[in-house]
Amino acid sequence: MILGALEAGGTKMVCAVGNEKGEIFEQISIPTRTPETTVPEMISYFKEKKVEALGIGCFGPIDPDRNSKTYGYITSTPKLAWADYNIVGAFEEALGCPVGFDTDVNGSVLGEVTFGQAKGKSCVIYITIGTGVGAGIYIEGKLLHGMLHPEAGHVLIQKRSSDTFEGTCPYHRNCLEGLAAGPAIKARWGQDAVALKDRQEVWDLEAYYIAQALTGYILTLSPELIILGGGVMHQLQLFPMIRGYVTEMLNGYLKTEELSDMDCYIVPASLNDNQGIMGCLELGRRAKEELG
Ligand code: ADP
Ligand code: ZN
Repeated sequence: MILGALEAGGTKMVCAVGNEKGEIFEQISIPTRTPETTVPEMISYFKEKKVEALGIGCFGPIDPDRNSKTYGYITSTPKLAWADYNIVGAFEEALGCPVGFDTDVNGSVLGEVTFGQAKGKSCVIYITIGTGVGAGIYIEGKLLHGMLHPEAGHVLIQKRSSDTFEGTCPYHRNCLEGLAAGPAIKARWGQDAVALKDRQEVWDLEAYYIAQALTGYILTLSPELIILGGGVMHQLQLFPMIRGYVTEMLNGYLKTEELSDMDCYIVPASLNDNQGIMGCLELGRRAKEELG
């Protein structure tokens, strides 16, 4: 089956063609401008490849509820050109094939569950820490939506008393995204995260904040596996620090096999940064199966 995959991001649109085995045949990246300029370019790409279905993993907030009037829309995004835009409708109409739709992070967790290290597990969280922070949640074998979809990057975090940085999130200030996403690191320390690699205090604070969020997710959702991806998590020294803080914060309260092996419980993404696009292939496959 020839499947199209679109990972729609705030800065770039990654379009790929592949199959139901998660094999990616080719991919391109287009800067995210406006729907009027960017969408026709993507449509002609997928048309030319004769895709039989398309899966879209999209920045949000979005409406993923098939029974809603605004299903398939990007809704209240701060990227104003894309607010209230019917992205699914645009592709369905132009390509005439089934289109699957979910958040970018639900796409990533689906990629890991279908093709990666989370295969066979039924409760998995994928968290991206990049320009923003988001979490895809696969629970009891299903992608979690609830009333909208999780926005777990915005959970509130208790600041260290020595941290005087006020936080970048215009809604909450001291949420995980506001304190720990790439732009927050840059604003707090005055340099790009990449350039701060050797500054121990930067990553210690980062790990402390990420661990608070993970502890909350663990206690609420009881995941079997936690996967951390996104640009900031390329700083692999964060992993042992995060595991250490989570262990400290849980303080022995939960005793499970998973938590007794933290190195295998809180892990980096496993698919060479292709988890998102591979998850979109699976969203496309599922749309084909469900909608014909
Ligand atoms: P996006 O979230 O836009 O899809 P990324 O996941 O690559 O893209 O996140 C970009 C953010 O991650 C930027 O703020 C950047 O500073 C940060 N970043 C990218 N690479 C690294 C790295 N190797 N180490 C630390 N931070 C990084
Ligand atoms: Zn926030």
